[in-house]
Amino acid sequence: MLEIPEAYVIAVQLENQVCGREVASVTMNSAPHKFAFYTDDPLKYRAILQGAKFETATAYGGMVELVAHDLKLVFSDGVNLRFHESSDPRPQKHQLLIEFTDGTALSGSVQMYGGLWCFKEGTFENEYRTAALEKPSPLTPAFDPTYFQSLIELDSVQKLSTKAFLATEQRIPGLGNGVLQDVLWTAHIHPKRKIQTLNLNEREVLFQSIKLLLSEMAAKGGRDTEKDLFGHSGGYYTHLSKLHASDGCPVCGGGITKEAYMGGSIYYCPTCQKL
Ligand SMILES: [Zn+2]
Repeated sequence: MLEIPEAYVIAVQLENQVCGREVASVTMNSAPHKFAFYTDDPLKYRAILQGAKFETATAYGGMVELVAHDLKLVFSDGVNLRFHESSDPRPQKHQLLIEFTDGTALSGSVQMYGGLWCFKEGTFENEYRTAALEKPSPLTPAFDPTYFQSLIELDSVQKLSTKAFLATEQRIPGLGNGVLQDVLWTAHIHPKRKIQTLNLNEREVLFQSIKLLLSEMAAKGGRDTEKDLFGHSGGYYTHLSKLHASDGCPVCGGGITKEAYMGGSIYYCPTCQKL
């Protein structure tokens, strides 16, 4: 699943690799997926996008947006995007395949669920996109201590666990159950700790961990559990993930615990992250 760092990385790669190319043809929904969402009949995308030339690519939250004149093509966090050279085989199953006039291509395939939206600004509403556009990203200076305080000091979040606070209700769009694990481990905070139990110092450390780790993940090409536009794994080494949890905690040497919590697996070090 794309989260803030990977969306950032893929937007930069799209900007360098896809912008400037002209759309020759579009094949949508060739492998129908129950949880692939479109703005309209996906078969109409071909007529809309044919001849378009993408100009810019940006990321917000876990989403990536391509712009061609007044058209937007937006991918939500569950869509795997891949660039293909002219000689590369195209994926067998996909929900989007854009062939460019120079023989290269861009494909999109949905894992569990994902939006592939094509629209003119103002003609499409989506609450997740609106939140991601409006709220400051931890990768930007606008996500500062004052802004973080305004989130963490709300009465309504005091009884939430730290995981629920950080990764639900689009409080921080694009910060999900993936990046969460190393952020909390670095801050030495257990994912089930209630916000009201965090002292001032812990709140400050949590803020710093969010800023530092998300920037580091973005700078290193995303997490090593995720793939970029070229199918390469990111360069950020996830300490608490399915890849490396069995190696134990690099700080104390103890075992990492994995358990199901709030619709996803959490990983934590019971020694470094006391409940
Ligand atoms: Zn530890």
